[in-house]
Amino acid sequence: MIINNLKLEGKSSKDIANLIYEELKNIDTTKNDVLITIPEMYQEVSNYLDKYDFEGFVKTSTLEDEDNNDISIDIVEKENFVVAIDGPSASGKSTVAKEISKILGINYLDTGAMYRAFTYYLLKENISLTEEEIKKVIGNINIDFEKDSVILNGEDISKEIRGDEVTKNVSRVSAVPIVREVLVDLQRNISKGKSIVLDGRDIGTVVFPDAKYKFFITATAEERAMRRYKDEKSSLDKSYEEILEDLKARDIIDSNRKISPLKQAEDAHFIDSTEMTLKEVVEKIINIIRGIDV
Ligand code: C5P
Repeated sequence: MIINNLKLEGKSSKDIANLIYEELKNIDTTKNDVLITIPEMYQEVSNYLDKYDFEGFVKTSTLEDEDNNDISIDIVEKENFVVAIDGPSASGKSTVAKEISKILGINYLDTGAMYRAFTYYLLKENISLTEEEIKKVIGNINIDFEKDSVILNGEDISKEIRGDEVTKNVSRVSAVPIVREVLVDLQRNISKGKSIVLDGRDIGTVVFPDAKYKFFITATAEERAMRRYKDEKSSLDKSYEEILEDLKARDIIDSNRKISPLKQAEDAHFIDSTEMTLKEVVEKIINIIRGIDV
């Protein structure tokens, strides 16, 4: 789309920016990238445009062509892409992943919640946590996500899966090969045909080794335990020391299991968040995705 130079004559930079903004309102920036090319004589317009809060990717570039004083707005359909965020328990990756998906206007999948949902089912049905018993019942589960809720066989179990019993047993269940096979398949199916952020332990290494963007977020065990302690102080009857011990135990099982252990993908960006706020982590990731920081 071209905004012809004649239409721009006599208008202030602010008015021109408003004109462009009106055009952008009709473009779905969750599905399209937008490139605005502005001739040098209207450079000040870019400063006004920067002040608007656009969702999605809007890039401006300046044109140094004396014969062309039109402003062009190019719309390019976005390719679907995967953002893989891995890391140990309580590294803040779920909070960060959710925020990233909101900023980019794309989907989000909490894969840990799927392992938790299945663990909850096994505990509730009193099924022993052996591969043999698990194989018999794995076909009985149906996991869905509705907004922020996790639905297991039609029942909202979002709260239950954060309970202590589930947390204690989930690493054991997720080390069982058939469980990983079935849930990884489900994760790939849910992600088909979408741009999506997934967080987990093996997203960048196993589930989506070709993900366009990969991040590995970690922090010291002490810092992670302290964050969890502060988050859950009111709801959990646990000391900081107990939380730290639980976390370390889960780290050991998750990092040493035979299949898909917690491991940084070689091409993942490593982020140590020990000294960072989660907002800073989000900013860093968004900048990398937008190509501002590498
Ligand atoms: O992320 P969250 O702490 O909720 O994950 C719970 C557990 O699920 C982890 O400790 C890990 O054992 C398992 N998990 C996994 N692979 C994933 C996500 C979670 O094995 N992709």
